[in-house]
Amino acid sequence: MELIVEDAVIVTMAAGAGPAGAMLVRDGRIAAVGPPGEVHAAASPGAQTVRLDGATVVPGLIDAHCHVSNVGYLAAGADCSQPSAPGIPEIQARLREAAGRTPEGSWVTGSGYVEYKLRERRHPTRAELDAAVPDRPAVLYHTSLHACVLNTAALREAGLKDGQPDPPGGALGRDSQGRLDGVVFEGPMFALFERNFRHDLTRMSAAQRAHLVESAGRYFAGLGVTAACDADMRRDTLTAFAEADEAGALRPRIYGLVVHDQVDWLVSSGLRGRRSGRLAAEAVKIWSDGGMSSRTAAIHGTYPVPPYGSGILFFDLPELTAMVRDLDAQGFQVCIHAQGDRAIETVLDAYATVLAGASGNPRRHRIEHGGAMYPPMIARAAELGIVVASQPGFFSTLGDGFAEAFPGTSDQLYPFASWLRAGMTVAGSSDAPVITADPLLGIRDAILRRTGEGRVLGPAERLPARDALAIYTRGAAFAMHRENEIGSLEPGKLADFVVLDANPLEIDAERIGGVRVLATLIGGAPVYQAGDIFPG
Ligand SMILES: [Zn+2]
Repeated sequence: MELIVEDAVIVTMAAGAGPAGAMLVRDGRIAAVGPPGEVHAAASPGAQTVRLDGATVVPGLIDAHCHVSNVGYLAAGADCSQPSAPGIPEIQARLREAAGRTPEGSWVTGSGYVEYKLRERRHPTRAELDAAVPDRPAVLYHTSLHACVLNTAALREAGLKDGQPDPPGGALGRDSQGRLDGVVFEGPMFALFERNFRHDLTRMSAAQRAHLVESAGRYFAGLGVTAACDADMRRDTLTAFAEADEAGALRPRIYGLVVHDQVDWLVSSGLRGRRSGRLAAEAVKIWSDGGMSSRTAAIHGTYPVPPYGSGILFFDLPELTAMVRDLDAQGFQVCIHAQGDRAIETVLDAYATVLAGASGNPRRHRIEHGGAMYPPMIARAAELGIVVASQPGFFSTLGDGFAEAFPGTSDQLYPFASWLRAGMTVAGSSDAPVITADPLLGIRDAILRRTGEGRVLGPAERLPARDALAIYTRGAAFAMHRENEIGSLEPGKLADFVVLDANPLEIDAERIGGVRVLATLIGGAPVYQAGDIFPG
């Protein structure tokens, strides 16, 4: 089947090319793109024509780092994000409501809050969760997924007791009497999330698992996302994605970053590599430190805000180097979460050792986030050819917290312009469900770098609009070894594209957040559309 798209502003993102007026899609790939006359001449007589009334077409947007299955899982619980739940009473009401529809044996779950965005400007407490859900375990995840709050029943079930010391790799919040206040940071929080998610996944029927994958896919497709790296892929989720792929139910193309402790399983599972055009697992994920918004990223010096300290580093250099060396030798692309400067230095040291003697960085080993990558580290990362997958959308959602936690260096955080100037490949991403997966907000924030309260963090690091779009298309495609197939609209590439009601390269950046996605197509087929623009 052939499809001609015309009466459109087609932003191809091909190197050096301006917008085209028409595009021909044949068998799921782009057959021609250019002036309407040329495109029609290349088409067969039976080709179907869709006129877009001047709408803008951009390459399918790619989210190089998010947590697709977590999005599907948390979507079933209570939305406790701000501004939708502005204070603790609203969070309590939503947890109470979620309790009514949570099956017995599963924890009542809420997510998405940021303590400094709440009216109370603090974490909710165990007592406040008890007031909402008194008789069964309840958990409220911080949006960073590096912290959570538990009620008393959940603390009991998790085996956490007043008077116990902080567990290794984590911290427990305490009230003025030293009693646990319910807040859990890092290591034990990850363990709890995993335990709950895994537990709930195993209790799901095949139909419920399919629903989880489907609802995540619908969410991303509606935002114009045609491919996503799932940065937390494990045995059960990769299996659920493979089931969905088998059933033809995957919408965005999924590129799995499989968690490092599941690599042995992956190698023996038959799911390593490219399973289909929609599902691949070729990369491995390692966490080297904590989060920025939870103030647990491993930094030099100490945080001036709670929980204070210098953050948490999960592996020392010899351990990390050994892991990277082993994975590199097995042919995996390695993607390491590193936020604080102390973590990023450790990761660069490990990469430098493993890549010594290689020509460049052939497997495209990545740093995920790279928040506090200060100038000397940028030069080193560029020299090593490290790819960085980062999240401009953090500025408007979490940026005021960064300014408090990094009072002296907040202008240097997430240095998008410096990365590009140094010649690094930068991949745009959301880290959803940490923040919304909306790539248009990410593009806007890459241009404006403005926080929720209106300060601009690092004006010199703002990107021109074309570069902002490029990180979500070409850059992200490179970061997942797919630059020959996606990331720009050029003949031979897959027909993954998005129809927008305005051109983000032309309008005032302030307006980009309000641009509407009219349709999302993958391989030339609509996976989302606002009306009946494309034949089904
Ligand atoms: Zn992440």
